[in-house]
Amino acid sequence: MSVGNTRKESAVVLWREYFPRYEYFKVSSLEEALKLKAEYGENAYIGAGFTCLTRRMRAGKIFPKYIIDIKGVEELKKIESNGDEIFIGSAVTFHELKANSLIAEHLPALRDAALGYGDLELSYRATIGGNIGNASPQADSAAPLLVYRARVVLKSLSGERELPLEEFIVGVNKTAIKPDEIITGFRIPHPPAGSKSGYLKFKRSAEDRAVVGIAALVANIKEPSQRTVRLAYVSIAKTPVYLREAEEIFKKDEPINKLINEAVEAAQSKYDMPVGKRGIDLRATKEYRLHLIKIGTKALLKKLIEGVEVL
Ligand SMILES: Cc1cc2nc3c(=O)[nH]c(=O)nc-3n(C[C@H](O)[C@H](O)[C@H](O)COP(=O)(O)OP(=O)(O)OC[C@H]3O[C@@H](n4cnc5c(N)ncnc54)[C@H](O)[C@@H]3O)c2cc1C
Repeated sequence: MSVGNTRKESAVVLWREYFPRYEYFKVSSLEEALKLKAEYGENAYIGAGFTCLTRRMRAGKIFPKYIIDIKGVEELKKIESNGDEIFIGSAVTFHELKANSLIAEHLPALRDAALGYGDLELSYRATIGGNIGNASPQADSAAPLLVYRARVVLKSLSGERELPLEEFIVGVNKTAIKPDEIITGFRIPHPPAGSKSGYLKFKRSAEDRAVVGIAALVANIKEPSQRTVRLAYVSIAKTPVYLREAEEIFKKDEPINKLINEAVEAAQSKYDMPVGKRGIDLRATKEYRLHLIKIGTKALLKKLIEGVEVL
């Protein structure tokens, strides 16, 4: 037997040994998916774009017995507004977020996040529901969704409930979803009139996930008591961070640069990145991330407040 064949055969054996066996269901309606979830509970994983799910299976982190593929469910692909709120279906891809005019007009920070999604080919598969369902500290869409006060819409056969995104992601790859539930989408109130918002992503290369990601929304900046400044961060802690303190800091009648410095310090104090087996977080050191929080927050707010790009 040649060396080439031996390698090929051992690759097949490895694949069989390490890729868990599962039963696969491709559904075409939400009802079908909910019935399967009700029957199989936590043994059944939802697959949307599969960009994270298959990687975690291959890494031996999860062992689904059943996989429910929802990619073909049309009702999960809607982006619509009722005038007060925008609804984004969980199976909407990053590419669709980039190309949608409602998102471009009303939720520019989410559009920035979609534009910055690392891999062009994968952006046609990776979904917003999978991004939040995976609950990674680097999830780009989480920071914009936090500053827009998005609520996660969850459905099971027994009904529908909503949770603020802040309460939905509870740890690294951990969410508050129940075993029989599916994320059907996100409800987002229309941002305040005249507000500006954006997302700034630092990454090591064009395809990379965030080393630090920052979303901001500002409105009525000249009038302290009316002022709204919201800030959220990804890749600085185990879960995405909504900087609640910023809301109060920016209500003070003090020079704006002083308030920005205060907000930067508050954001830096949230640093709590998980470390890997080797005791380090591979993308960046703590010091570098703290530096990026500082220059990124200042640059993003300067752009939104003064229209000046400094990075
Ligand atoms: C090369 C590469 C580059 C990447 N670049 C980025 C990047 O730049 N930014 C970024 O944020 N991420 C990035 N990712 C991570 C990943 O692509 C995203 O998190 C993506 O949005 C996941 O979506 P998906 O549809 O593929 O999810 P899937 O892999 O299908 O699912 C992910 C998890 O969410 C659950 N899930 C999915 N949909 C639902 C639902 N409707 N209800 C309940 N649970 C659900 C699944 O069960 C699974 O646990 C990258 C991944 C790769 C492999």
